[in-house]
Amino acid sequence: MKRTFFSLILMICGLVLSLLATAFYLFNYKEPLEGFDQTLQMQTVSNQGNQLTATFIGTSTLLFSDGDSAIMIDGFFTRPTIKTLLWKPIQPDIPLIKSSLKRLNITQLKSVIVAHSHHDHAMDAPIVAQLTGATLFGSGSTANIARASGLAETQIEVVGAKRTLSFGQFKVTMIKSKHTPVPAAMAWLTGHGKDISQPLPPKPRLTDFKEGGSYAVHIKHPLGNILVQASGGYISGLLEPYQADVVFLGVAGLSKQSEQFKHDYFKETLHAVGAIKVIPIHWDNFMRPIGKALVPAHPLIDNIEQSITDLADYMHDNEKGSLIMMQAWDTITLY
Ligand SMILES: [Zn+2]
Repeated sequence: MKRTFFSLILMICGLVLSLLATAFYLFNYKEPLEGFDQTLQMQTVSNQGNQLTATFIGTSTLLFSDGDSAIMIDGFFTRPTIKTLLWKPIQPDIPLIKSSLKRLNITQLKSVIVAHSHHDHAMDAPIVAQLTGATLFGSGSTANIARASGLAETQIEVVGAKRTLSFGQFKVTMIKSKHTPVPAAMAWLTGHGKDISQPLPPKPRLTDFKEGGSYAVHIKHPLGNILVQASGGYISGLLEPYQADVVFLGVAGLSKQSEQFKHDYFKETLHAVGAIKVIPIHWDNFMRPIGKALVPAHPLIDNIEQSITDLADYMHDNEKGSLIMMQAWDTITLY
């Protein structure tokens, strides 16, 4: 009896220790992804006009410029840690946003386009709009995040199912699509398929940033077209009417989907628009600051290496285009 009791205590201690070790590992994981050094065709450029450049700043934060006009997708810089996300209110780090915009040499933006209202897309966007004079475009939920942050109503535009916007030579179409499917617990935590129906409370928590509908963003420009698919979801046939040589493709959560889903996702995005250059986005661990370099999501949470391999295989078999990896702050000439 005594022996069984001690065995039980030992088992519980062992279980607690392994849980603690796993938690420690998850909180401290910072290794770069193996095999992720296959960066291709990278170049640092300053836009002198007559070329279309893209700068990647992690998750699906992107800056597009043709030398005359600049537009930003999402504008997420704060990247709260997992501890903050779980236990504290989450708020934009304004000095960090200011220094990031300075690093990007941005004083003015025509627009900030928000892919959806989760914190890793929308939480900093109103501050970016405020600091750059941009108009913020997004769902009604994104508008409610912006209102809470004090952005002027004149700088907030709600987009419905589809809307085309003009900024200089850019013609941007936001098309309501779908978010990546997520497990039930995550769906609850992140308000999957739910809206933010009133301005956020003064000290918002992670659970306040509900999805609010997700957009695919098509960018038409005389130099060439681009698709930004921030979240790994699709609606059959939705993107067929659009053409884009370059696709920025969200891969977060893709490793948790079935082989069929992944194939259909690639087909409904890359094949639909006729992509010849694909740049994966939303592969980084957005609970860590950008620092010198992005690190991929933890493999136990999301196996990015597998998703990139699946994407490369699909492209090899079907599209024959090039796959380009970008690190944070990299600028590439697209056209
Ligand atoms: Zn999301």
